[in-house]
Amino acid sequence: MSKIANSKLALLAIVAVAALAMVAGYMKGHHDGSVGRILQLSPEAQAAKAKMSPVKPLENRDVYYPGTEPLGPDEMRVVALGTGMPSFRPKQAAACFLVELGNGDKFLFDIGQGSASRIAAMKIPMDYLDKVFIGHLHVDHMGDLAALWIGGVKMNRTYPLRVWGPSGTTPEFGTKYAIDGIKRYLNWDATTLKGLMDIRGERLEVTEFDYKGVNQIIYQENGVTIRSIPAIHVMDGSVSFILEWNGLKFAYSSDTFPNKWWIKYTKGVDISVHECFSSPQIMLDKMNYRPEWALNLSAIKHTSPKQFGKIMAMTRPRLAVGYHFFNDHDTLPEQLAGVRATYDGPLAMATDYMVFNVTKDAIRVRMAAIDQEIWPMQPTRAKETTPSMADNFSDFIKGGSEWMPEVLKQIWTAFNERNGTNFEVPSK
Ligand SMILES: [Zn+2]
Ligand SMILES: [Zn+2]
Repeated sequence: MSKIANSKLALLAIVAVAALAMVAGYMKGHHDGSVGRILQLSPEAQAAKAKMSPVKPLENRDVYYPGTEPLGPDEMRVVALGTGMPSFRPKQAAACFLVELGNGDKFLFDIGQGSASRIAAMKIPMDYLDKVFIGHLHVDHMGDLAALWIGGVKMNRTYPLRVWGPSGTTPEFGTKYAIDGIKRYLNWDATTLKGLMDIRGERLEVTEFDYKGVNQIIYQENGVTIRSIPAIHVMDGSVSFILEWNGLKFAYSSDTFPNKWWIKYTKGVDISVHECFSSPQIMLDKMNYRPEWALNLSAIKHTSPKQFGKIMAMTRPRLAVGYHFFNDHDTLPEQLAGVRATYDGPLAMATDYMVFNVTKDAIRVRMAAIDQEIWPMQPTRAKETTPSMADNFSDFIKGGSEWMPEVLKQIWTAFNERNGTNFEVPSK
């Protein structure tokens, strides 16, 4: 390399270092990283800036951050945690709605597959999530009940899980039979919890009520009344729910064909969540159903958008909420056109994590901002764990264990040093 080239390089280096020093000097007084003189605000501007709150007050937030907004004493919050279809997809879990009340009570209506992780995203200690109302026994309305039952114990629920659901035409089609089946299918799992977890949350209690009951009270505690009305869906044994508290009413259809009970008993409710199934055309175009079956499924087994709109026009809730369809940019216009053909009132077309704050004065609709990396919340009462190191292995299985005492010793020693404990490696 020539001397000239070398001196050019040296000059460049000097210029670069000087530039960096200038930038560093500039930034020193501006830790927010903004650039130099632009921030030399006039005293008036500085005073105005100081008055501006960097964080919007809670009531003005554009999104809902779970775990950060206390409910007002007269307020109801409804969160859509599953708004999709039986076909599973990342964007929408199957049916699940959470209702939270200003008195501290919380209720889950349906718990379809995929909804359990969305329930966890609400950052509510599991002790509060011990009441589930199931409208009918399709998997897209109860598929994650097992996850809430066993997973809830592991995530710190210390109270029994209570489930309400309809009877069937015979005992084998009722909720109690279904829950007994869940207990059988997770017998191994439930047994392994003993000695590991606080198993007070392992109790699973069922209240089965008559699916034919009309406006019958199935729950009444702490100023909250929940009633059931019959629903018409595929075969006998489906119901819808109406929750009433503090002068506010929430109605939830689960799945149903338009029916006289819904029309009679949900008139003027504050928030009316009713299925608005994918239109026959969408079932044909996107789901590839045979034409006659697309019509039958959307408008006979379920309630299609035009029928949903008609029901809302007849019942006039303060807010109509349609769910049970895949809510995408290309399907929503078709769904909406159907609803708007028969209904011109207040409407929200639900998708997962849509949040409704309901008071006597207003109903506010927002989306929740979700923390994907959520960890379990702490229980509301101290855990009663009786850890047992005892195992239940046969000699055959136990004889296969590779004990590796030197590695165990390292683990125990490191743990004890870090935590100031004095545990000893168990003997084989
Ligand atoms: Zn169903
Ligand atoms: Zn369904």
